[in-house]
Amino acid sequence: MSVASITSGVTSTSTAHNIREFDNNNKEILKRLLKLPENENCADCGALEPQWASVNLGIFLCIVCAGIHRHLGVDVTRVKSVNLDSWKDSEVETVKATNNIKANEYWESYLPDNFQRPNYTDSIGLKEQWIKCKYADKAFVPIDVNDPKIKRLNFNERQGWVYKKGLVVKSWKKRWLKFVGDDHLYYFKNPSDKNSCGSISLKDLGQIDSVSEVDGKSFCFIVSTPKRRYLISCENGADMFVWINNIRVASALLYAKK
Ligand SMILES: [Zn+2]
Repeated sequence: MSVASITSGVTSTSTAHNIREFDNNNKEILKRLLKLPENENCADCGALEPQWASVNLGIFLCIVCAGIHRHLGVDVTRVKSVNLDSWKDSEVETVKATNNIKANEYWESYLPDNFQRPNYTDSIGLKEQWIKCKYADKAFVPIDVNDPKIKRLNFNERQGWVYKKGLVVKSWKKRWLKFVGDDHLYYFKNPSDKNSCGSISLKDLGQIDSVSEVDGKSFCFIVSTPKRRYLISCENGADMFVWINNIRVASALLYAKK
């Protein structure tokens, strides 16, 4: 063996050793950061003991939310596992410089009153929409942020076109769905109709959550009343997110009045 190859062997072994040490240091720092109360819950769904992170946003995530982040694209969020991946110094610095609470003060600054924050018990579909609105559309960043990419949501628009069907009736019907007060949703054939086709009482609601594609329709959600279950399909994910939130808000207000 030549001197050169011995030298290069020594160098590469010591480099590998340095990288390992470097990595171990970073792992220790990350473990310490995860023990901070600010980071004990997933930044997006509140699940305990997150073990993943978005290294550019500087937040810790549970495995489910990390999977959702991964689909948003690396220009929005870059996901790494605290335990399985090796981290660059700069990435550790980013998560060190922020924490989940601080990050949410920015990303959730513009949430409407009574907002029903999705949590870990909700469907993947709802969490996907929440995370997309939050980071890709920047729907809730502070009001004074000036960014052409911001897509706000209109929670005050409490009516709109949807497709509706019961779980028994097989066909979808296009309906104009509208809140009347906080305790009923009425559905009409046309927005100008005086007489509705029917109504959904928001008292004592059970499940209000997104469901995956039903009979060729996307952006579906379910509303369970004590008597019936309704399936509603929206034009897009943002509309679905707003409907689910507004119905949950109304239902929670009715519950609080009891
Ligand atoms: Zn989560």
